[in-house]
Amino acid sequence: MTDNNGAALKNHSRRHCGIDDMGQNKFLESSYFDLSFNAVFPKFGTNKSREIKRLIFEISKIEKCEPSLILNSIKDKNYASVKKILLQKRYPKNFSKIKSNSYYLPKYEIDENLKADLNNSPFDPKNIYFENGAQNSILFDNVKKKFPKAFFKEIPSLKIFSKEKPFSIADYNKRNSNLFIVKEKYDFFKRCPCTSGAANCGYSIMNLGMGCPYECSYCFLQGYQNIAGIVLPYNIGDYLLDEKISGAVKGLFDYKRIGSGEWTDSLVFDDITQFSKPIIEFFRNKPDIFFEFKTKSANVSNILSIDPAKNIAIAWSVNAPEISKNNEFKSAALEQRLESAKQCAKAGFKTAFHFDPIIYYKNWKDGYKQTIDMIFDAVPNDSILWISFGTLRMPAILKPIIENRFPKNEILNAELLLGQDYKLRYDEETKREIYTFMNKQIKSKKSKAIVYLCMENV
Ligand code: SF4
Repeated sequence: MTDNNGAALKNHSRRHCGIDDMGQNKFLESSYFDLSFNAVFPKFGTNKSREIKRLIFEISKIEKCEPSLILNSIKDKNYASVKKILLQKRYPKNFSKIKSNSYYLPKYEIDENLKADLNNSPFDPKNIYFENGAQNSILFDNVKKKFPKAFFKEIPSLKIFSKEKPFSIADYNKRNSNLFIVKEKYDFFKRCPCTSGAANCGYSIMNLGMGCPYECSYCFLQGYQNIAGIVLPYNIGDYLLDEKISGAVKGLFDYKRIGSGEWTDSLVFDDITQFSKPIIEFFRNKPDIFFEFKTKSANVSNILSIDPAKNIAIAWSVNAPEISKNNEFKSAALEQRLESAKQCAKAGFKTAFHFDPIIYYKNWKDGYKQTIDMIFDAVPNDSILWISFGTLRMPAILKPIIENRFPKNEILNAELLLGQDYKLRYDEETKREIYTFMNKQIKSKKSKAIVYLCMENV
């Protein structure tokens, strides 16, 4: 920081660290801040005020400093100078290198009612809605036994039911109260859409439901799901038909890969659905296809009760311990995931690991090295089929949702830049540094696992 005003801001803010998130939010929300802001910058219009307030919020959050001090340090400047000072402060690494449209500065608006419910209560839906035909299914019987006190109601269809109940992000916290048992008619199987410009690995997806009871701060479902409930299909048999599966391709691998963990966690409901059993039995006889269950759970008892198959990979999404603890709420702890991996490997199943999303934070190297060490201590080297890396990226609209649902999150503190596809990502140099480091760590373990990047073009 060479600019005098920037230096002043730096010194001021460091002297007054210690304000808590709540205090900061209340302060920014308050009409007092608006009054102060309007008094300091009476001529800023709506858009200019939005940008500057947003930058003040982000800097004060990162540095845990009072917004008023930042405001005071820039009060005698015009809009262009103020914006420049604040952008330099907020994006010190990238400010001089990136285009002006790389900053995403939406209105800063916090609604306390939208906060994620982080109580770690077990999944226990109060309402079970089912489509006609569900009553004769194994899933329905399992649900009846598991949730005998729930209110059961037949609905004409999920589509009609949802139309009558418009969804907003405020309903997202209520999703664990409602379970929908539906007949999937079309969306059985698809090629992974990946992301534009990235090298597609050829993965195919079997969509065995929608919605997840876990609360990961970065979860894309928060900005995608538009049903206040968990949706599970009762017609698992329709998914396992040869003509549907035949669309799978090899892509970057020597074999086809299909997985079920896109719109939900593959195993979080397996004690209810028991889908793992027919899936493993079906793919056991298809050695050219590897089926992957991708999870953050330790829900592997059904899997451990079945004879292993060489083409079944039980995969865990993992993260640095600190990131996992502070962002992956309600899921199995990292140690529990790795204990399950150990058990599955011992039983003869293959394993896989996904570092996704990798978060850039102060101690990221130590954190990710620690998790890599933990993995290779837990499972034998030759059980691991593949390991993927993907750094944090998200549709821009997810940012205010995360701010509201996880006000204490630190994952948004990094320099996330807006791409042409309206997604936020780290800069190329940061991504390269992360991938190079991660690859080196895996290589140091003499791993034979296939290592690849997920949705990445570096
Ligand atoms: S486990 Fe996956 S699907 Fe579930 S909340 Fe976390 S990121 Fe979302």
